[in-house]
Amino acid sequence: MTKPDYESIRTAIRGIVEEVIRPSADRVDAESIFPRANLAALGRAGWNGVLLPKELGGLGLDHVAFGIAAEEIGRACASTALVYVMHVGAAQTIALYGNDDQKRRWLAPAREGVIGTYSTSEKASGGHWWFNFSEAGRDGENYVLNAEKSFTTSSGQADYYLVQTRSPGAKGPTDISFFIVDGKSPGILPGKWEALGVHGNHSGPIKYENVKVARRDRLGKEGEGKDIIYHGVSPVYLIGLGAAWHGVARGALEEITKYATATVHRDFDRRLADYQILRSQIGEAKVLAESVGFWQRGLAERLDALWAAGKPQGEILIPLTEFKVHAAEVANTVTRRALDVSGGYGYKRGPLERAFRDARAAIAMGPSNNIAREWIGKTLAGLPLELFEAGGE
Ligand SMILES: Cc1cc2nc3c(=O)[nH]c(=O)nc-3n(C[C@H](O)[C@H](O)[C@H](O)COP(=O)(O)OP(=O)(O)OC[C@H]3O[C@@H](n4cnc5c(N)ncnc54)[C@H](O)[C@@H]3O)c2cc1C
Repeated sequence: MTKPDYESIRTAIRGIVEEVIRPSADRVDAESIFPRANLAALGRAGWNGVLLPKELGGLGLDHVAFGIAAEEIGRACASTALVYVMHVGAAQTIALYGNDDQKRRWLAPAREGVIGTYSTSEKASGGHWWFNFSEAGRDGENYVLNAEKSFTTSSGQADYYLVQTRSPGAKGPTDISFFIVDGKSPGILPGKWEALGVHGNHSGPIKYENVKVARRDRLGKEGEGKDIIYHGVSPVYLIGLGAAWHGVARGALEEITKYATATVHRDFDRRLADYQILRSQIGEAKVLAESVGFWQRGLAERLDALWAAGKPQGEILIPLTEFKVHAAEVANTVTRRALDVSGGYGYKRGPLERAFRDARAAIAMGPSNNIAREWIGKTLAGLPLELFEAGGE
């Protein structure tokens, strides 16, 4: 199979980013505006269906292209990038586990700006987002959901939520099911999103109060949720998330390079970039950003190879987790260096302080870097991850 022309792909997505997403990024942050207009523009050009086949209105591209898109969007606006990643992830999970009826109803309208998201985390299990205490109930052959989710990106804004909860009458925490919940359903109660960064994200809490879900909107089989978490949700989410933070690092690096080369101290006629200590920080930031880029490309290619071979993508869950940790740390280090190099100027409202605040979300987002390092260490030590044991399985 011939590979897509990734440079043209980058040029195409960059066009939308520069024309639509970058100009609104400061306002999205300052006024906590949900970036619906950005998602609508991405949708019209097919990007919301980047991984979907052409029959479903998608671009029929691969994970390398998805990574490039998330990265390019992240270069300008982290809020939009996260909304985008959650949407592409939710859509791809439906593409992998959904039936034709679900694909036609939920995925085909992606060009019209219809977006989805993941709704998994619960306060009672914190960052162990795979572990739910909520449980779906039966309503004849249909279902009724009562659940309180502690965080959901695009909360109150998404057209559909991929809700993860225990199956009705679940025997234990691994008996999980997924449901596609129409965003217009009565009983959906989104909470407020007030946070340090990614203000446009609307990643606040959300309650599902007696929300009815028809049987036709159960994703996969009852009890298939654990498999969906490993092989449907995690791979696409982790590559996209890391790519979005890679983009934030790139954006900050570009901004600070421009600033340091353009800003002159007139007393000695020296640019900021003429100070060795500042060049060294920019150099460090460049090396870090490059490392994420190569890692992203390699993992995306491995995901594509598994996908093409019809093999479960969760096979590379640990390498993807390592990538997420590194991308998150790099985004934080690079934005910190950028703020330092910019002096007091970058501390003022603007793209550098915004990226610095936004990047902090990377550390906390699931799997948090603490949890992720624990998984990686356990794997190295030959220990099981023990994700569900505390609950008795
Ligand atoms: C911007 C943003 C967007 C998000 N979007 C979504 C979304 O779209 N959908 C969704 O379902 N969720 C989403 N989340 C939730 C996210 O994935 C986590 O579930 C959530 O941040 C956990 O927060 P908590 O305070 O409950 O964590 P806690 O688990 O209470 O974390 C407290 C501390 O304990 C550490 N910790 C926890 N468990 C362990 C462990 N086993 N080993 C070592 N250290 C541990 C954590 O790293 C952290 O330092 C989002 C979060 C953020 C910040």
